Amino acid sequence: MLKDMSREELDNFAESIINGQKLSDDNIRDLLNIEDDEILEKLYSIARSIRNHYFGNKVFLYSFVYFSTYCKNNCAFCYYHCKNDINRYRLTPDEIEKVCEALKGDPIHMVDLTMGEDPYYHNHPERLVEVVRRVKEILGLPIMISPGVVEDKVLEELRRNGANFLALYQETYDPALFARLRVGQSFEKRVNCRNYARKAGMCIEDGILTEVEPDKESTFKSLKGLEKSDPDMVRVMTFVPQEGTPFGKMVPGSSKSELKIIAILRLMFPNRLIPASLDLEGIDGMVHRLNAGANVVTSIIPSGSSLEGVVNYDRNLAKRDRDVHSVIKRLESMGMEPAKQEDFNMILSR
Ligand code: SF4
Repeated sequence: MLKDMSREELDNFAESIINGQKLSDDNIRDLLNIEDDEILEKLYSIARSIRNHYFGNKVFLYSFVYFSTYCKNNCAFCYYHCKNDINRYRLTPDEIEKVCEALKGDPIHMVDLTMGEDPYYHNHPERLVEVVRRVKEILGLPIMISPGVVEDKVLEELRRNGANFLALYQETYDPALFARLRVGQSFEKRVNCRNYARKAGMCIEDGILTEVEPDKESTFKSLKGLEKSDPDMVRVMTFVPQEGTPFGKMVPGSSKSELKIIAILRLMFPNRLIPASLDLEGIDGMVHRLNAGANVVTSIIPSGSSLEGVVNYDRNLAKRDRDVHSVIKRLESMGMEPAKQEDFNMILSR
């Protein structure tokens, strides 16, 4: 559909999306089928025009604190699944406080507190609530919590104690693929948990994996599922085979599919938060993702930190170049800059 469009026609297309036009199912399928690099560039330029209309050159920055890598689940794609024989850690309350002290004064808009479904917290959710309360007390920043599926009353307590965002990725809205990815877990419980978090006054993040789908129709189902989920922040991440997992021997895909889907998400969710994660390809990868229409940088960690990411492109690298100052330097070289905290707070309250 973009193949023969002139610059003016591309601008008009962006304009029509800004004016409320929705992509039809045929449009979404056509966009998913684009493979030609020149046409993809056109798609990215539309996505950037739409993003710039809503956010200008401003980007939001999230710091990532993976405070427990224990998990009771066995997601087939995940390095931290319970049967993988790896070194794990669970930060003590003191260690979490130290991480927060180190983050004080960093120009970040939100702290993302992530853990696996660690029984230490899941069987005693009051411990999780206390972590949120302390982090809020120390940093006073918005908090995103990624605890996995938790009960309604836990969500209420998390909200009451300072959690602003729940991140809970469906990974796919293709039920057959869900069963292969999130082995033994309930599709509906994940959906219901996000829905309840919204009811409890939190913003929600949903997301999908790519390069693991059996075909384009599966990806299409996921995009339609995200449309229904209607999250405040919407993510796609490339599946990366992880050692010691059932999917560990799969052939890794490129980031092309992720970039294309980021751009399609920008067309489907014009004014939403769409992340460029540092966790897959570091700061160079961030640039490509922002150029495809993203407007948030996630997985920022303090320099010298030994905390884990989720995919960890840099697990074996001597230098982990994903601290906030390196990110800002690169943003500036792209003509972009961090947004004001008030702008982020406004998004949280809308
Ligand atoms: S994706 Fe999350 S819930 Fe699944 S195994 Fe990994 S850490 Fe656990």
